[in-house]
Formats: sequence, structure tokens, C-alpha cells
Amino acid sequence: VVSGSAPAETAPELPGWIHVNSGKVRELYRPAPDSPWADQSVLLMVATDRISAYDHVLEPGIPDKGIILNQLSLWWFNKLAEAGIPNHVVSTEVPEQVAGRAIIVQELDMVPAEAIVRGYLTGSGLAEYRETGTVTGIELPAGLTDGSRLPSPIFTPSTKAEQGDHDENISFAQLQERLGAACTLQASTDGADLARRVRELALNIYTLAEETAREAGVILADTKFEFGLDADGILVLADEVLTPDSSRFWPAEEWERHVAQGKPQPSFDKQYVRNWLTSEASGWDRASGQVPPALPSEVVAATRERYLDAYRRLTGSDLQL
Ligand code: ATP
Ligand code: MG
Repeated sequence: VVSGSAPAETAPELPGWIHVNSGKVRELYRPAPDSPWADQSVLLMVATDRISAYDHVLEPGIPDKGIILNQLSLWWFNKLAEAGIPNHVVSTEVPEQVAGRAIIVQELDMVPAEAIVRGYLTGSGLAEYRETGTVTGIELPAGLTDGSRLPSPIFTPSTKAEQGDHDENISFAQLQERLGAACTLQASTDGADLARRVRELALNIYTLAEETAREAGVILADTKFEFGLDADGILVLADEVLTPDSSRFWPAEEWERHVAQGKPQPSFDKQYVRNWLTSEASGWDRASGQVPPALPSEVVAATRERYLDAYRRLTGSDLQL
């Protein structure tokens, strides 16, 4: 865990925990010396209501987003655990101030990359495909359009940029090199091998999740995983998983019509906010380097509805707030 990368004003003081890092969305804490957790290598991970897009944290937050993300992640962690996928969750018994939106996790040696899997073509994958016919170097058949289903899911890693930098798509070979160079990663001496393990696990989880989502009427177009190594060198699923922040979710019943008409997919995720930001209505020029404008209250409300909708569709029940 890096520390001190962002101002911590918004991190609440929590009894028994010491704040160590503010991510774009999450606050991380370590156990205080007098805490019952003190001698264990755990972290408290608090999901805030912040929302980020195009590498900017936007104003204002989305009410209840932290709870929605955390509860949906937990739902998936449980589901995937049933299929034998290990995850970093240790406990949901967290300080009252952050109940519902925090978990205690096993501190892992994080793989310094984002493990992205795409089953459908859109976003930065589509942009690269249009230029080169490939996505992170993987060749795809000709004639695909926005929203096309890929012949089989592909692993398209990206760098995990430091605060303020942009994540960049990289090829599998580049990932192998980077993980080789980053091998303070204990137990795994070989970056090439670690990259292969990450790819295999990411594709397996995507395949499982895509099926689960499809049964719930949701297309899991693409998603990002983060993994870490535990003390035994086991690759463990970390961070958040299969949320509307880390995934593109499309309503299954509308997918075919939209692809056929060459229209972007309606979605239960952050894409809605990205679309507003890049629309004329926002008045923002992404290339300007300027801070994006505040989200109007109707955009905030509509985003919240989409996140709740994703939770409802996937889990089959309303989130109790
Ligand atoms: P950044 O931290 O660069 O801003 P981000 O915006 O994705 O990236 P958040 O999601 O806000 O970050 O914060 C979560 C942070 O905690 C990430 O840096 C993530 O890699 C890290 N993390 C998640 N799970 C674990 C874990 N089990 N052990 C150690 N670090 C973890
Ligand atoms: Mg994150």
C-alpha cells in the first residue's frame, strides 16, 4: 500500500484504526497498536461515495454508492468463493460509522496491474480495434462494432497508474516484463509465470460471472480485477469485484437491438457519467486538462438509480439502505 497520495480530509477517524491511504474511491486503514487486529496483517477498506471518471474524482459524490459497491462486491466474493476462488475478505465487523461500506481484508502483495477481461467490444478496446484490428495486441476478426460479442473472452491488462496518471492498456508480453521487474512480489519469482496465472484466473472468474450475470438478465461486457499474493504465494482476488465501478453492465434484453442499430448500449454503470461528461451538456473538454464541472443533481440521482439497479438485477433483491 502506498501512502499519502491524496489529501485525507474526507477520511473519517475510526476507533482502533489508523488512516494510511486515500484512493480515488476508497480509504485504507491499518490496525492501531492497541486494536485486537494489531498483530495481523489486515487492512480496513472503506468505500466512500466518491465517483471518478477519466482520472478525475468528481463532485459531488453519489449518495449510498459506497454501500452499494461494498455490498455488491461481498455478494460476488461469496458467490465466487463457492466456486473455489479465494478472496481477501476477513471480516465485515467494522466500526459503526462505516457499517455496510467497509470490510476488513487480508493485506496482500498487490500485483501491479489491472486484470481486465472483455467479452464484448467497447470503450478503449473498441478504439484500439478501430485503429489496428487488435486489442492489447490480440487480433480480432474483422467487422466487429460497438457492443459486439467477442468470439471468446480476452485478457487485456493495463497498467495501474499512480494517482493522477492514466492507466494504459498493455500487451501480455509487456505485462510479463513488468511483473518480472516488479518481483519484490514474494514467492513468485517469475514474472512471466505470474502473468500467466493472473490471466488464467481472470478469465476463469469472468466466465463464471458472465454466466451468472446473464442468468440475471445482465450482460457483463467487461470488467477489471485486482489480485494480490498472500504469504504462501497464492493468488487472491482483492479490491472490489464485479461492481458498476469496475465493470460494464448492459441490460441483456436490449443488447441485440442496440448492436444491430450501431448504438451505444444503455448501461447500469459509470458509463452514464462518462457519457454526460463528454456530452455538450457538460461543457467540458476532456483534453483541456481542466477539472470537470460538478454533476447536476439529476445526473447524480440517475447514476444512483443505475447503481441500485445493477445491485437489484444481479442479486435479485433490493439493497436495504
Ligand atoms: P489509487 O489508489 O491509485 O487511487 P484506485 O482509485 O482504484 O487507485 P481505490 O479503489 O480508491 O484506489 O483504493 C483501493 C486501493 O487499495 C487500491 O490501490 C488497491 O490496489 C488497494 N487494495 C485493494 N485490496 C487490497 C489488499 N487486499 N491489500 C493491499 N491493497 C489492496
Ligand atoms: Mg479501485
